[in-house]
Amino acid sequence: MKVNILTLFPDMFTPLTTSMLGRGLEDGKWELNLVNFRDFTSDVHHHVDDTPYGGGAGMVLQIMPIKKALDSLANKGKVIITAPQGKTFNQKMAQEWSKEDNLTFICGHYEGFDQRVYDLADETVSIGDYVLTGGELPTMSMVDATVRLLPGILGNAASPVEESFAHGLLEYPQYTRPEDFEGMKVPAVLTSGNHQKIDEWRHKESLRATYLHRPDLLENYELSSQEKIMLEEIKQEDTNA
Ligand code: SAM
Repeated sequence: MKVNILTLFPDMFTPLTTSMLGRGLEDGKWELNLVNFRDFTSDVHHHVDDTPYGGGAGMVLQIMPIKKALDSLANKGKVIITAPQGKTFNQKMAQEWSKEDNLTFICGHYEGFDQRVYDLADETVSIGDYVLTGGELPTMSMVDATVRLLPGILGNAASPVEESFAHGLLEYPQYTRPEDFEGMKVPAVLTSGNHQKIDEWRHKESLRATYLHRPDLLENYELSSQEKIMLEEIKQEDTNA
């Protein structure tokens, strides 16, 4: 996969070149192409923004440098604009995007984009109901969530399959050594060696975590008959606790 990022601040993207994503870059498992759209201006001061028509505070990003930067790309693939008004990014989108050969992100700044810039994109995406200074941090979050799903990026191939949101539920609790820390014990089933019981426990605890912390996720989740029984038990255990 090749990821193009149109930004005024290419130096901000070091986090994508470190740790597992950085190793993936070095190994050629994905490519990162940072494009400063200020390089596509034609005036002597390299302006990328201007005052809004109709008046008002702040500066608005102009369409021309962004359009030229997009046109310079050999293969744009899916074009994504970062903006608070977009649909909220989630794991399902990361899974879909991870199947693409090319992705292009456009990072805004200042007061955001001339409205016509949105017509250049396939999707407008937000990372949540809050306003950041620029689209760089949202883009890094979305690229990280997407690229880590590519084959060979994570050490343990099974981990993205089992983690939170992969199947619509949160992940079950995880433990490592010591087995007893100041009286806080690891659940006995996890040290029992009985893999069927461990799988059942994890499944139920995954459902419990979702019910307790993100019940909204269960609204769109189709419970199996086994999960319906588990959920009733969880509710009963919750009232008895
Ligand atoms: N005036 C805009 C508004 O009220 O919606 C906010 C502009 S914001 C200061 C500048 C840029 O940061 C945006 O163009 C966008 O690229 C990015 N940005 C800010 N918050 C974001 C969010 N929650 N999700 C995605 N991008 C965001």
